[in-house]
Amino acid sequence: MHDDTRLAHGGRDPARQNGAVNPPVHHVSTVVYESLEALEHARTRPYEGMTYGLRGTPLHFDFEHLMAELEGAHAAVSCCSGLAAINIALMSVVEAGAHVLVADNVYGPTRQLCDNWLTRLGVETTYFDPEIGSRIESLIRPHTKAVFVEAPGSSTFEICDVPAIAGRAHAHDCSVLFDNTWATPLYFPAFERGVDISIHAATKYVVGHADAMLGVVSANAAHAGRIRRATHQLGYCAGPDDVYLGLRGLRSMSVRLRQHESSALAVANWLAGRPEVARVIHPARADHPQHDLWRRDFTGASGLFGVVLEPVAKDRLAAMLDGLEYFGMGYSWGGYESLILPVEPQRSATRWSYEGPTLRIHVGLEAVDDLVEDLAAGFNRLAGNPG
Ligand SMILES: *Cc1c(COP(=O)(O)O)cnc(C)c1O
Repeated sequence: MHDDTRLAHGGRDPARQNGAVNPPVHHVSTVVYESLEALEHARTRPYEGMTYGLRGTPLHFDFEHLMAELEGAHAAVSCCSGLAAINIALMSVVEAGAHVLVADNVYGPTRQLCDNWLTRLGVETTYFDPEIGSRIESLIRPHTKAVFVEAPGSSTFEICDVPAIAGRAHAHDCSVLFDNTWATPLYFPAFERGVDISIHAATKYVVGHADAMLGVVSANAAHAGRIRRATHQLGYCAGPDDVYLGLRGLRSMSVRLRQHESSALAVANWLAGRPEVARVIHPARADHPQHDLWRRDFTGASGLFGVVLEPVAKDRLAAMLDGLEYFGMGYSWGGYESLILPVEPQRSATRWSYEGPTLRIHVGLEAVDDLVEDLAAGFNRLAGNPG
């Protein structure tokens, strides 16, 4: 079955739901049992059927099965946000005294989680250059439990060599954790590339409409029990309405992604020809430093990329951004609408050495011509011409 067909037919069973095309939403905390025997039976099978709201409903299981199938995972669990998914993945592999290796280009809150919370639990973090590849081996210590990678990094878009890193990590019994939010299961087959635990901010492309917070953690067989226990014992359950929006979002995800991909590339290529732009950072462009890795390991590009502008005064940048009509300024991405955000990459193992402002652009589902016109008018304001 192709992914497009799986997205349309997976995670639902009309015969089980009175013929309705989509599964129902159960709002539930307590599940009552008919007998002591039924209660005791359920206790021995905590992940079968509905046992308590925190452990999920049939809708959660449908959504999780479909996500696991798409990614080639052994199992997936849903949770309340992408950040919760990162927390679950990390907590499932560390213990006091452990050491973790984290790519220097990860999502900012991942870094805060390591620096502020893992540290308190006695877990040490070392950040590494995203271009490290198999040289990661020199950083692995006897107590190194995990390597955490995000590719492309969500504000600077470097791509790590995941198979090389995973090969060295596995040789030393370290788990490989990967934040797959940018590519989704459709554009990066995480488990084929050597990942053990894959993380998704489903808030982004899975939900796809900027109207819910949702996370997913998926794992291979060796890690599936750990991510389930971490999710349930830490209490990070996803609300049923949000899971419904996630499952609904999946139905159209491949179609949306194809449009995001082609529109974003068109906008990126246009930007690359502008004199105000110092550099466009888009993995699908041949001038991206790890373009070859992207071609080798990914099957597509989504709608998020970076742009570094030539140095410019703050008020000029504000004039450009404040007047944009179609690009909203705000956090998150992956919805149908375009966004633009100045970012300040945090680094410790490497340097981000550009003088001009770095912008993160999410290209939504609007017409490319309208978006380009909006940006062109923005550059006009940037140059000091009245809007
Ligand atoms: C947004 C994001 C997250 C966190 O997702 P939330 O649902 O906002 O908590 C994690 N990783 C990446 C790469 C993200 O972009």
